[in-house]
Amino acid sequence: VQDYKLCVMGDGGVGKSCLTVQYTQGRFLDYYDPTIEDTYRKQVDVDDIPCMLEILDTAGQEQFESMRDMYMRDGMGFVLVYSIIEKSSIQGLSGLRNNIVKVKDTEDIPMVIVGNKCDLEEKRAVSKEEGQNQAKEWDAEFFEASAKEKINVNEIFTRLIQLIREK
Ligand code: GDP
Ligand code: MG
Repeated sequence: VQDYKLCVMGDGGVGKSCLTVQYTQGRFLDYYDPTIEDTYRKQVDVDDIPCMLEILDTAGQEQFESMRDMYMRDGMGFVLVYSIIEKSSIQGLSGLRNNIVKVKDTEDIPMVIVGNKCDLEEKRAVSKEEGQNQAKEWDAEFFEASAKEKINVNEIFTRLIQLIREK
C-alpha cells in the first residue's frame, strides 16, 4: 500500500476541518474546535491502486515556525483552502504557498486550490474566475467545493493523489 502525507492549509474558518472530516468520515460537523490540529487516516483506491492517506488538518496554532516548516517538508501534497464568502481568505493563500515553495525549494509541488462553501452562492465574495486564475498562476488544480453539501470533496483528494503520482 502506498503512503501519502497530505496537508490541508488556509485561514481560520474557511472549512479545513469540515472538508477533512467530510472526506475521511462522511459527515458534516457544524462546529469543530478551531484550535485543534489533527491527523486523519483513510485508506482508498485511486485509479485502482490502494493507498493509505495521512491527512494533516492544520489549525495555524504552531508555536514555532520550525514546526510548520517540518510538516511542509513532510507533506507530499497540499490542499490550500479559502472560502468563497471571504475575500481576504484567498489573499491569505499567497503567504502559505510562498512558505511551501521556500521549504521545498521547488515550484513543482502537487497542490489543489479549493474555494470552499460554494453552497453559499448568495454570499459569494470571490468569483470562480479569481480562484481559477490564482490556481493557474501557481500551476495548481482548482475546485470549488462544499464540505456541507459534499460537493467536490472526494475530487479534491483524488486529484491530489494523482498529481503526486504524476510527479
Ligand atoms: P477551519 O478553521 O478552516 O478548520 O474551519 P471549520 O472546518 O472549523 O469551519 C468553520 C465554519 O464554517 C464552521 O461553522 C462550519 O460549519 C462552516 N463551514 C465549513 N465548511 C462549510 C461549507 O462547505 N458550507 C457552509 N455553509 N459552511 C461551512
Ligand atoms: Mg479547523
